[in-house]
Amino acid sequence: MKKITAAIAGNPNSGKTTIFNMLTGARQHVGNYPGVTVEKKEGLCKYKGYEITAVDLPGTYSLTAYSIEELVARNFIIDEQVDVVVDIVDASNIERNLYLATQLIEMNVPLVLAFNMSDIANRKGLVFNLEQLSELLEALIVPTIGNKGKGKVELLDAVIATVEQGKVKRTHRISYGEEIEDELAKIETIVNDNEGQLTEKYSCRWLAIKLLEEDQDITSKVKSQEVFDVAKGGAEHIKDIFGDEPEIIMADRRYGFISGACQETIKSTVESRHSRSDMIDAIVTNRMLGLPIFLILMYLVFQLTFTIGTYPMSWLEQLFGWAGRAIAGLWPMASEHWFKSLLIDGIIGGVGGVVAFLPNILLLFLAIAILEDTGYMARAAFIMDRIMHKIGLHGKSFIPMLIGFGCSVPAIMGTRILENRRNRFTTIMVMPLMSCGARLTIYTLIIPAFFAEKWRGPMLWLIYLIGIALAIISAKVLRVTILKGETTSFVMELPPYRMPTPKGICIHAWQRGWLYLKKAGTIILAISIILWAAMSYPKPRPESLTGLNSQQAQQVKLAYSVAGRIGRTIEPALKPLGFDWKIGTALIGATAAKEVFVSHLGIVYAVGSAKEGLQTLREQLQANYTPLTGFCIMLFCLISTPCVATIAMTKMETHSWSWAILQFAVLTVVAYAITFIVYQIGSFLTG
Ligand code: GDP
Ligand code: MG
Repeated sequence: MKKITAAIAGNPNSGKTTIFNMLTGARQHVGNYPGVTVEKKEGLCKYKGYEITAVDLPGTYSLTAYSIEELVARNFIIDEQVDVVVDIVDASNIERNLYLATQLIEMNVPLVLAFNMSDIANRKGLVFNLEQLSELLEALIVPTIGNKGKGKVELLDAVIATVEQGKVKRTHRISYGEEIEDELAKIETIVNDNEGQLTEKYSCRWLAIKLLEEDQDITSKVKSQEVFDVAKGGAEHIKDIFGDEPEIIMADRRYGFISGACQETIKSTVESRHSRSDMIDAIVTNRMLGLPIFLILMYLVFQLTFTIGTYPMSWLEQLFGWAGRAIAGLWPMASEHWFKSLLIDGIIGGVGGVVAFLPNILLLFLAIAILEDTGYMARAAFIMDRIMHKIGLHGKSFIPMLIGFGCSVPAIMGTRILENRRNRFTTIMVMPLMSCGARLTIYTLIIPAFFAEKWRGPMLWLIYLIGIALAIISAKVLRVTILKGETTSFVMELPPYRMPTPKGICIHAWQRGWLYLKKAGTIILAISIILWAAMSYPKPRPESLTGLNSQQAQQVKLAYSVAGRIGRTIEPALKPLGFDWKIGTALIGATAAKEVFVSHLGIVYAVGSAKEGLQTLREQLQANYTPLTGFCIMLFCLISTPCVATIAMTKMETHSWSWAILQFAVLTVVAYAITFIVYQIGSFLTG
C-alpha cells in the first residue's frame, strides 16, 4: 500500500475540519505541532490502494511569518515534505480565499483545490468555469459540499492524480511587474550562489519573494551577508519607487492575479459586487462601456500629449537653432569648412531634430505610466483581450502596442511582458505599423499642405487607422503561418486601483524616455553623420555654382551628391508610386529614421529647415504635387520601417538577425505594393 501525506489547508471557516472528517471518518488522532500549542489533527483514509494520512492544518488566510498558525502551516508543508496540499476554498467568497492558493502555488507544492460551500456559491448566483480556472491556476479543482459529504470520491481521485503526477514545473506564475521582478531575479541569483542549504528545501524564487517581503523567518535563516544586503537593498528600492512596503505591493499583485483569473472564469448571475475596485471595474470593464471609455481615454492622452507637447518642442527647436547659430558665429573658420558643416548641419541638425521630439514622447510615456500605475492599463488589456484574441494575440500585447504610437524602440522592449514566445514575436513584428511619433512630423507637414481644414483631423485618424488595420491583418497572417500555434491561456492580472506615487510615475516615464534619448545619442548620431556625408559629397565644381543664390546653390550641391544621385537612380522605381527624385532622396534619409524626412525635403527644396521654412515647404509641395501624392508619401512612410533603431531593437529582442531582416524586407515590400496600388487606382479615378 502506497503512503501519501495530504495537508488540508484553508481559511478559517472554509470547512477544513468538515472535509477532514468526511475523508477520515473516525480514524483520527489529535496532538500538538512540535514546540507550539497549536492543535494538530491527523487521520487515515484508505482509497484505491493508497493509505492517505490527512493533516488538518490550522486555518490561515496567508502564509506569512506573522502569526504562529501561518508559520506552523507553512513549515509543516515544507519540513514534512507533504505529497499534496488540499486547499479548502470557500467558493462563496472566492477572491479572498484564493489568496492562500496563490501562496501555495508559489511554494510550488502539488496542489488540489476543493471548492467547498459550492451550495452557498450556487445560491449566490456564482457560476464557475472550473476547467478554465483549473488551467489558469494549474491545479485540479473539485467542487464539494462538506456538510453533505458531497465530492468525496472526486476529491480523493484528484488527490491521487496529483500525487502521481508529482512536482511539475508551473508555466504560469504571478508576475510582480518589472521593478519587483528585477529585484527578485537579483536575489534569486545570489541566493542560488550562496545558500546551498536553503535551496535544498525551498525553491529559489520562493526564497527571493520571501526575502524581498522581508519575511522574518526566512531572513533569519539566511547565512550570507551578501544575500542579506541584496535583499535589503531591493526592498529599499521598491519602497522608494512605490512608497509602500514590498509586501503590500506584492500582495496587491497576487490579488490582481486572482481578480484577473476570476474575471475570466466566474460569472455572477446576481449582482454581488461591493468593493471600490469592483465598483469601478463594473463600469470600466463593462461589455458595453469598456471599449468606448477606453477609446475616449486614449483620445485624451493623445490630445494632451500633442497640445501640451508643442510648447517645449518649439523651445527645444529654438534652443538647437540658437546653438547652431552660436557655434557658427564663434567659429573662426570659413563657413564652407567641412567640420563646421558636419557639426552644425549634420550633428546638431540631425540629433536636435530628434531631441526636439522628446517632450512629446515623455508626455506620452508619462500618461501611459499614470494609466499603468493606477491599474487602469491592466483593465485596458483586459478589455482588448476579447478583440486581440480574435487576431491570435493576447490582450497584454496591447500595452506595448500603445507605446508603439510613441516610439517603436521602447515598445519592442515592452513586449517582454508577454510570456508566450509566439505572441511576443508576432507583436514585435507588427509593431512598426503602429504609427510612431516620428511619422507624425511627416503628417503634420503634409496634411495641412494638401487638405482643407475640416479634413485634416479625419485624415490623421485615417492614417493611424490604416496602420492599426494593417497590424491586425499582419498579426493574423503571422499567427496562421510562421508563428502558428496555440495561444496559451494565462491570467490577466487585475490589481486593485492605487493612487500612483509621483516618483514612481516619473521613474517609469523617464526609463522609456531615456531609451529614446540613447537612440538619438548613438544610432541617430551615427546615421546623421553618414547622411550628412551622403548629402554633402561629392561636391560640384565651384564654377557651376556661380550666379546662384545660396539656396539654389544648396540644391545643386544636393543633386550632385551621393544621396541625390541615388535618388535619381531609383526615380524610375518610384514613379509608379507618384514620387520623383526629390521625394526619393528624402525617403532614403527616412529609411534611417522617419524624423529626417521633413528636414531632408527642406534641403532638397532649398527652403532651409527652420520654422519659417515649413510653410514655404508646404507651398512648394502644393505647387509640385497632387494631394494623392501627398497621401501616398504618408502611406509609404507609415508602412515602411520607422528607423534603423527599430531594426536593431528587433534583432536584440528576438536574438536573431533573420527576424530583423524579415521585418525590414516585408515592411518595405508591403509599403511599396500598397502605395503602388493606391497611387494607380487613385490616378485612374482622378484621371
Ligand atoms: P474550518 O474552520 O475550516 O475547520 O471549518 P469547519 O469545518 O468547522 O466548518 C465551518 C462551518 O461550515 C460548519 O458549520 C460546517 O457545517 C459548515 N460547512 C462546511 N462545509 C460546508 C458546505 O459545503 N456547505 C455549507 N452550507 N456549509 C458547510
Ligand atoms: Mg476547523
